[in-house]
Amino acid sequence: MKQKSSDVPRAHRASARRRFLAAAVGAYAAARTDATWAQLGSAGSASLTKQQRDALSVVQIIDELKKGNERFRTGRLVSHDYRDQQRTTATGQFPAAVVVGCIDSRAPAEIIFDVGIGDTFNVRIAGNVVNDDILGSLEFACAVAGAKVVLVIGHTACGAIKGAIDDVEMGNLTGLLARVKPAITRTQFSGDKSSKNAAYVDAVARANVVFGIETIRRRSPILEELEKKGSIRIVGAMYDLATGVAEIIGV
Ligand SMILES: [Zn+2]
Repeated sequence: MKQKSSDVPRAHRASARRRFLAAAVGAYAAARTDATWAQLGSAGSASLTKQQRDALSVVQIIDELKKGNERFRTGRLVSHDYRDQQRTTATGQFPAAVVVGCIDSRAPAEIIFDVGIGDTFNVRIAGNVVNDDILGSLEFACAVAGAKVVLVIGHTACGAIKGAIDDVEMGNLTGLLARVKPAITRTQFSGDKSSKNAAYVDAVARANVVFGIETIRRRSPILEELEKKGSIRIVGAMYDLATGVAEIIGV
């Protein structure tokens, strides 16, 4: 798993060293405008090294995800050299975060947060629900591979949320949608509680994100303990399909 420095191209090592040194001298605030330092794909041509990932705090990682989404929605995406990232991560990966998102084709985490290969683990499942296998994946991502942020992200106009509201029953989808039902029960909403009401659908999606966070804490003693120690943080987000904004919630 460990990435050897000898496997990393010279240019990548040099840029990685510059970024790490900048971080080491506490230049975080000043570096906000310095694209050669910024992490999580901001540099575009390089993936995170172990040194860089380990030096980042959970707050910095969340902040970089926010910055990435800002670049996305303002059309200022960095130029990712995916081939370089593919080569430099082939011998090891050091993602800073693990994202649990919906399968919706309009909400791909790497793109809406403008990150590259090797920057984030990604779990995608309809309605961004959490089950035992997903908890296992999150435990691997954090306790084994060292990711520091778990981000559960829902989105507006989610078909899975609408399906759960409508009590859709179809094959294996029935069981999956049942995992959204507790969020429906919890949603505080006055008005038309139908899948035709976009505001209600989005309110349930938001409650579903919060329920997902709580489920992770309740059903994974490993992740709960890591969060209590401050080693990781479990947060949520709501992604607006219309605006491209991913609003971080539950921080
Ligand atoms: Zn969805």
